[in-house]
Amino acid sequence: MSDFNQICITQTASTILTLLGIAPTSQMAPPIKQVLDCQGSCDRIFIYNPDAIAMWIYEKYADYFKEMEKKIDLKLPMLSVIPPVTPVCFASMYSGLLPAEHGIQKYEKPVLTVPTVFDLLSQAGKKAAIVSTEGDSISKIFLNRKIDYFIYPSKEACNQKALALIEQDCYDMIVLYNGDYDYQMHRHAPEGKKALKALQENIATFKQLQASIQKYWSAHQITLTFAPDHGCHRVCGFLGNHGKNLPCDMNIMHFYSFL
Ligand SMILES: [Zn+2]
Repeated sequence: MSDFNQICITQTASTILTLLGIAPTSQMAPPIKQVLDCQGSCDRIFIYNPDAIAMWIYEKYADYFKEMEKKIDLKLPMLSVIPPVTPVCFASMYSGLLPAEHGIQKYEKPVLTVPTVFDLLSQAGKKAAIVSTEGDSISKIFLNRKIDYFIYPSKEACNQKALALIEQDCYDMIVLYNGDYDYQMHRHAPEGKKALKALQENIATFKQLQASIQKYWSAHQITLTFAPDHGCHRVCGFLGNHGKNLPCDMNIMHFYSFL
């Protein structure tokens, strides 16, 4: 058996679109059957994108996820794309294309020109919002779409805004990015104290989002996901990195909650 997971993050794009009743483009990777088997359709999607949470981190720190998992309907081992670095991965996740097809093949953050989930949503008359920190990949590569951008200097401001948008109940899809685990992992190693604190905060944020969505979107059929972009590994004993075609960097776990 391969050490690499089978379901590629490219399949997330057409999964989101299909759930919302929008036809994916023929170039996009097919939707994830396991998701569609659980939730045929929905009218609201919230995607929480914490950066760099590896599958091996999830497995080793399973205790951290215990409470969160009580309210999870589907857990999917996912495979990232090569090289597993942030702009390459999120471009694949939201375009449904491999790096050679969407054009971002290394750590750079140009505005994508290929069709993405965001383009197809706005073309279908749906409202989407990206909430993300300044300078980060998600804040840059999906610009120039007919969607709303809420870009702030801090994670805290982003998370507050996301909660406010949930309360307003006017977006069909909201994407929230949190890059703090990745930031701390690079500087203090994947299992460093500060990185693990960020991981716990990411899990707490997801639980908070879920509670708020249950409260304010009760009239809707909802898909909520916890979807990191790639994994990570330790280097030089006390630092962390990612970008290699290795299971530690490529394997991630995605969580789905259908509400
Ligand atoms: Zn990343």
